[in-house]
Amino acid sequence: MSFSILALVLWGGAAVLAFLVVHRAAVRALWNEPVLAQPVLIVESDDWGPGPVADADALAGLASRLAAVRDQRGRPAVMTLGVVCSLPDGAAMLADGLARYHRRALDAPEFAPMVEAMRAGCGAGVFALQRHGMEHFWPDALLARARVDASLRDWLADPQARSEGLPSHLQSRWIDASVLPSRPLDPAAVQCAVDEEARLLERLFGAAPVVAVPNTFVWDDAVERAWAGSSVRCIVTPGRRIEGRDGQGALMPPTRVIRNGERTADGLMQLVRDDYFEPIRGHRAEQVWQAVAAKRRLGRPVLFETHRESFVGAAAVARAANDELERALRGVLERHPDVRFLSTAELADELAAAATGLVTRSLPHRVAVFLARVEHEPALRRFLKYSGLRFALAPVFLIAGVMHGRCAARAR
Ligand SMILES: [Zn+2]
Repeated sequence: MSFSILALVLWGGAAVLAFLVVHRAAVRALWNEPVLAQPVLIVESDDWGPGPVADADALAGLASRLAAVRDQRGRPAVMTLGVVCSLPDGAAMLADGLARYHRRALDAPEFAPMVEAMRAGCGAGVFALQRHGMEHFWPDALLARARVDASLRDWLADPQARSEGLPSHLQSRWIDASVLPSRPLDPAAVQCAVDEEARLLERLFGAAPVVAVPNTFVWDDAVERAWAGSSVRCIVTPGRRIEGRDGQGALMPPTRVIRNGERTADGLMQLVRDDYFEPIRGHRAEQVWQAVAAKRRLGRPVLFETHRESFVGAAAVARAANDELERALRGVLERHPDVRFLSTAELADELAAAATGLVTRSLPHRVAVFLARVEHEPALRRFLKYSGLRFALAPVFLIAGVMHGRCAARAR
C-alpha cells in the first residue's frame, strides 16, 4: 500500500517537473500576462479612409449607435478606426503608363466628409483612430505587379475599387509582395513611409495615433523600429507575428507567440486581437457574448476585429449590421454590468500603469485565471491530459473555478 502511494507521489512529482521544464516559457508568459479584474470590450474596425460620401454617413450612423450604449462609468462603447490614408490615383497612373505611383489622400477636399465624421466620432468618445498605413499595400509592389497583370490595371481603372478587392498578398503593406515568396522592405523606405503617414494624420487630426495595426498582420523588426521612432506606443497583433508570404501568397508560419502586455525589442506594447465580429460574414451577437464570457475567465480584454465592409454598402445590409452591433453591446452590458469600454490606447496605458485597478493584484484571482489559461492553451492542455495530471489535479481546477466565480462576483 505504502509502495503504491510512494509510486503515485513520485509519478505526480515527475510529471509536474516535466511540465514546468518542457513548457517553462509558456507557463512564465501566462503567469506574467496581466489579469484583468473586469471585462474590457473594444470593437476594432479597420480599413476606413478615402471613399464615397456614403462611407462618411455610415461612420456617422455607427457613432450614434455607439453613443447610445454606455458602461457603468458612463463611457460610450468605443470603435477603433484603422485609418488607411489614401487610395491610388489609378487614372493618373494609367495615363503616364504606370511610370510611377500617384495617390489620392485623405486631405483632398473630396474626402472632407470622411475626415469630419472621424473627428466628430473622436470628439464624442466613440471613435479612436489607429494607424493602418498610408495605403493598404506597398505602392512599389502594386506598381510592379500592375505592369504585368491586366486584372490589376482593371482594378486601377475603376474609380470605385477598394483595397479589399486586391489579391490578399498585395494587401500586406509591410513586405515586398511583387515577388513570391515575399521579400522584406528596405528599412529606410519603411521609416520614410511611416513618417509620411504620421505627418498626414497629424495635419488632419492634430496628432498621429499611438496605436498601429499591421495590414493583414504581416510586419517585421524594421516596421516596429520605425513605429517606435514615430510616437507609436502599441501594436495590435493576432497573438503571433507573421513576417512574410510564401510562394503561393499565403501567410508564412508565425515566428513568435505574443501575449497581451508583452513589449517588442523597441519597447512597444503588444495587444492581442483574436475575436471577430463581421456581420457581413454572418457573425451574430451571441458569438460576442460567448467571447466576452470566455475572455473574462481568462482575465483578458476582448478586442473584436471587424472591417468597414460590414458597415458600408447596401442600406439594408448596413442597417442590419448596426442593429446586430447594438444588440451585441447591449447584451454584453446585461450579462456583464461591470464591463468597461475603452480605446485600445487607453487599455495599453492601463496595462502599463498596472496600478489603476483594472489589472488585479489579488493572488487567488491570478491563480484561478492562470489555471484557466493553462487549460485553454492547446499544448499545455494536451500535456496535462496525457500525463494524467489533469485527472490528478481535478480538485485544484474545480476550486480555481469557484474562486474565479467569487472574484468576478466581487468585481461586479
Ligand atoms: Zn486592413
